[in-house]
Amino acid sequence: MRILIVEDDTGIAGGLEATLRSVGYAVDVCGTLADAAAALRVEAFDLVLLDLGLPDGDGIDWLRRLRQEGRTLPVIIMTARDALPDRVAGLDQGADDYLVKPFAPEELLARMRVALRRSEGRASPLLHHGDLEVDPAAHTVRKAGTLVPLRAKEFALLLALLRASGQVLSRQRLEEALYGFDDALESNALEVHIHHLRRKLGSELLQTVRGVGYFVPRPETGQAGAGATHSGPP
Ligand code: CA
Repeated sequence: MRILIVEDDTGIAGGLEATLRSVGYAVDVCGTLADAAAALRVEAFDLVLLDLGLPDGDGIDWLRRLRQEGRTLPVIIMTARDALPDRVAGLDQGADDYLVKPFAPEELLARMRVALRRSEGRASPLLHHGDLEVDPAAHTVRKAGTLVPLRAKEFALLLALLRASGQVLSRQRLEEALYGFDDALESNALEVHIHHLRRKLGSELLQTVRGVGYFVPRPETGQAGAGATHSGPP
C-alpha cells in the first residue's frame, strides 16, 4: 500500500511518515499541490492524506479537480479547520473522510483502513483466502487458525497480492506498493520477501509469472463443481 501525504508542515509530515512506515505502508511526502499532482501522474498511490492550507493553493480546490478528472482513489483530509461548513464542504468536494488536527495516529490508521476497504469494495475488515485469514488492523495472519509471524514488508506484500487476487502484479507495481521514492531498494529485495512468504505460508500461494511478476490465484469458492476437477489428478 502506497500512501501520498500532502502536507507542508514538515514536523507533522515527518511524524505521519514515520507512523505509516512503522506499520508497513510505503510513503511519499509532498509539500505543495504542484508536487502532489506530479507524483500522482508518475506513480500509483492507494490513498492520499491531504492537508488543506498549502503554499500553492487550497487542498479543497485541488481535490475537486482530482475528482473532476475522474480519479477515484481514497482521499482523507486532515486539517485544523474544524468548523462545520469546512467539514461538510470537504466531504462534498470528494473527500472520503475528514480528520481534524490534532488527531491520534491510531484513529488515522483506522480511518485509512476503512477508506482502503471501501475502495476495494469490502465490508469485512478481514481478508480470507483459502485457509488464510488476514487482519489488516491487527497485522496478523493465520493459516488454518495458527498465527504466522510476518515482517512488515512481507505483510504489506501479502496484502497487495491478496487484494489483487487472480491478477498478476508486475515487479514494478509491487515495488511501488512497498517502497517510496526515497527508499533504498536492493535489486533482489522483492524476491527475498517472496521467498520468506512462500516458506511461511506455502509455496503454492504465491505464483511467479517469469519476467512479469507475481500473483495469488483466486481461492476455490467451493461452489464450482466443475472447477474442482482441476485440482484432481490429470
Ligand atoms: Ca498546512
